[in-house]
Amino acid sequence: MRPFNQDLIFEKSTEDRRASHFIFEPFEEVTLPNELIRHDDPLLPEVSELELMRHFINMSTKNMGIETGFYPLGSCTMKYNPKINDELATLKGFTDIHPLSADEDIQGVLSIYDETQKMLSTLTGMDTFSLNPFAGAHGEQTGLMIIKKYHEKKGNHHKNIIIVPDNAHGTNPASAIICGFKVVEIKSNLDGTVNLEALDAVLDDNVAGLMLTNPNTAGVFEKDIRLIADKVHAKDGLLYYDGANLNALVGVARPADMGFDVMHINLHKTFSTPHGGGGPGSGPVGVIKELKNFLPNPQVVFEDHQFKRINNKNSIGRVGGFIGNTLVYLRAFVYMRSLGKENLVEIGPRAVLNANYVKTQLKSYFNMPLTSYCMHEFVYDGLKGDTDIKTLDIAKRLLDFGIHAPTIYFPLIYKQAMMIEPTEAESLQTLDHFIHVMKQIVKEAHETPELLKTAPHHGYVKRLDEATAARNPILSYRQLKEKALID
Ligand SMILES: *Cc1c(COP(=O)(O)O)cnc(C)c1O
Repeated sequence: MRPFNQDLIFEKSTEDRRASHFIFEPFEEVTLPNELIRHDDPLLPEVSELELMRHFINMSTKNMGIETGFYPLGSCTMKYNPKINDELATLKGFTDIHPLSADEDIQGVLSIYDETQKMLSTLTGMDTFSLNPFAGAHGEQTGLMIIKKYHEKKGNHHKNIIIVPDNAHGTNPASAIICGFKVVEIKSNLDGTVNLEALDAVLDDNVAGLMLTNPNTAGVFEKDIRLIADKVHAKDGLLYYDGANLNALVGVARPADMGFDVMHINLHKTFSTPHGGGGPGSGPVGVIKELKNFLPNPQVVFEDHQFKRINNKNSIGRVGGFIGNTLVYLRAFVYMRSLGKENLVEIGPRAVLNANYVKTQLKSYFNMPLTSYCMHEFVYDGLKGDTDIKTLDIAKRLLDFGIHAPTIYFPLIYKQAMMIEPTEAESLQTLDHFIHVMKQIVKEAHETPELLKTAPHHGYVKRLDEATAARNPILSYRQLKEKALID
């Protein structure tokens, strides 16, 4: 174990030390206007190439990722990202394109946009998708702007309420507020499903829509979804599908058939593009036919034998600079094409099998709010028996075994929630190893609880002050200097 501070405060700079790199391609000299020319030296660490290499190589080994160990982070679908996705997305023909290129020069990329959009439509039953949004939460905002536009066009000016269940992801109410809606929260049943009485009690003419994820955040399929859709539609409300849990259902059930009108897909979850640490992502938004014209600009269409980017005058407008995170949806495209439709439909059943296997193997050790079969993920509500060990302690101890912690303290409806999503990508051996480690941790909880309360012991950092880390993060070299943590 290396001491904590020395490791975090990695000042390597020495005045006038340099790393040089030769540029082999000739470049043209340009003259910049005076106001754009920098007069002070940039504040950068001064290091040799060797020190630079050591720094980055060492940093790269200090993190946990899907490629270093099991990563059962509930709701986040940390599945394997096949390398073929990256190989194709780093072809020069894709990486060297300028976003302002003329349509006729980027027919390949536009055709991938179109084909990805069509594959997503086939899998979800939606009429069309826009690939422009950059994340799930951005997709929510885009989808809610579409709902707003729909009501404005119809003269439903009084409709200003979005209903959100109390087990929803925090981004759902946040997106609704950003779009100027009022959020009304409804209590869920114990299994996280929508409480129909609670829904009836708030459904009135002011309701613009309802946001749901299915399976819900407790890993339970919403069986009453058609009934719920009918109730919302009867008030001329629209149903928004938060697609974060689509992994359970790919090609097996379609949100449009359940009655949803607008949805997003987190391509970085279900369709396997690398994610974490805030990006990069892609959150395509799909809609039923009636809402198609409201999709964000630019829209990609095929006209006169070629793909074009057009601006539709009925659109909600732009949600980003160009046509989304191209190299991310390209990876999702490669993932779908390399699996093919025969294998895409295997994702959900295998993810569900893996989740139920883990859930069942550990059921005598943890409180289970829901004992029925789960979908692709499930929730434990703390350790069984007489112990003061908390979910946080178990999560931290898992890190000592090289396993990433599950999602903890979400959904909020369970006090000691630990939400586990193994994904379809993991082998039986990996699941058995996880089960073995969890049993070991349960044993420690009863025999040597201090070991858990002070975990992790083997990481680069020990237990952190997470509140301060989140509220007052130091993310750049400049900040480190400014906060005088280094000379
Ligand atoms: C991940 C997630 C989101 C937000 O998606 P991002 O791509 O992280 O913005 C929304 N809802 C649920 C249920 C999620 O799990």
